[in-house]
Amino acid sequence: MNKKSVEQLTNLKGKKVLVRCDFNVPLKDGVIQNENRIIGALPTIKALVKKGAKVILCSHLGKPKGEPVPELSLAPVAVSLSKHIGQTVKFADDPTVTGKVTQDMAKDLKDGEVMLLQNTRYRAEETKYGKDEKATEYAKELAALCDDEIFVNDAFGTAHRAHCSNVGVTKFCKENAVGYLMEKEIQFLGNAVENPVRPFVAILGGAKVSDKIGVINNLLEKVDTLIIGGGMAYTFLKAQGKEIGNSLLEADKVDYALDMIKKAEDKGVKLLLPIDNVIGKEFKNDTEFKIVTSIEPGWSGFDIGPKTIELFKDALKGAKTVVWNGPMGVFEFENFAKGTLEVGKAVAELKDATTIVGGGDSVNAVKRLGLADKMSHISTGGGASLEYLEGKELPGVMAADTI
Ligand code: AMP
Repeated sequence: MNKKSVEQLTNLKGKKVLVRCDFNVPLKDGVIQNENRIIGALPTIKALVKKGAKVILCSHLGKPKGEPVPELSLAPVAVSLSKHIGQTVKFADDPTVTGKVTQDMAKDLKDGEVMLLQNTRYRAEETKYGKDEKATEYAKELAALCDDEIFVNDAFGTAHRAHCSNVGVTKFCKENAVGYLMEKEIQFLGNAVENPVRPFVAILGGAKVSDKIGVINNLLEKVDTLIIGGGMAYTFLKAQGKEIGNSLLEADKVDYALDMIKKAEDKGVKLLLPIDNVIGKEFKNDTEFKIVTSIEPGWSGFDIGPKTIELFKDALKGAKTVVWNGPMGVFEFENFAKGTLEVGKAVAELKDATTIVGGGDSVNAVKRLGLADKMSHISTGGGASLEYLEGKELPGVMAADTI
């Protein structure tokens, strides 16, 4: 299903456009530690400026719990944006977000000018859309800033939440489009799950089975091969009756793991689990470690072993769509990073394949290992990308107009 995009918004000259961005940047003592999210928002903002719109940006930052918290002001973001766009981004320093200060600034905006609202979560209503009448009022106030006309959502990171500034506001605006970042996420994640070029291989790792239950279940309906590594693999190995020593185990998920092994068989999906492991005595880099097939008591599996690396690499050969979520081991420790690095390299080297890294720690791993540039798409939304892979409809995506 195609969503209306910035490209399809016409006759914007002189019109106010409200844009929901993801400016949830890491801050320390008022200094932005990483501007990636700001840089990611620039294509949409610049396109709207070029079309002569009056651009009103909004975002949440951290968790101020519904009241003004000076440390979570978006003021530093306005400064950074001004530098990147090459023109002043006015900052509406209004603790009520949508009050008179903001309204006056929006009214005075000239064509091609840009302003930024204060942290949308300074208002408790922001996260209560659909649960509280006051939240509907807040959504209306936000929409009124752009004269109830045009809203653009470019915040994929919050797309799995129905809040006032990404979903509520769409009920009061005439046109609701997605920005370039959102469009890219929908195109890559959506296509991979709904319409993959085959063979389709998914790689899941990370610490917990319970975080990814929905993802495993949904992907087994879609993929040709499912590779499971990382800490979560040990619950599956336990389900198969293997010795796992002190490795991570979610005892209450062993039955679920068995069900998934059975489901893979029924569906004809190749399910691959580690056949050897790098085990360590203690959870630290400088611990005694060795490579084994069966894990002895008192030891824990912290990475996949060399035979498993070869098995996983082989399974990736010829893949045309790959989705990867979660590291193959404790990649933060050099001695247990090899599995993640080798599997990452194998994905990065695939020819003519769409390779997608979705969410959280796998994104960190790929960046840390210097493989980010070699992937087709790195998802910006941790929770949102996981919910996409679970096959859930994201409220933030649903709310945009369909074309
Ligand atoms: P997640 O957020 O679920 O993707 O989990 C990522 C975390 O899982 C990383 O911090 C890894 O260090 C950790 N992890 C991966 N494999 C293992 C393992 N075998 N034992 C313990 N932790 C692991």
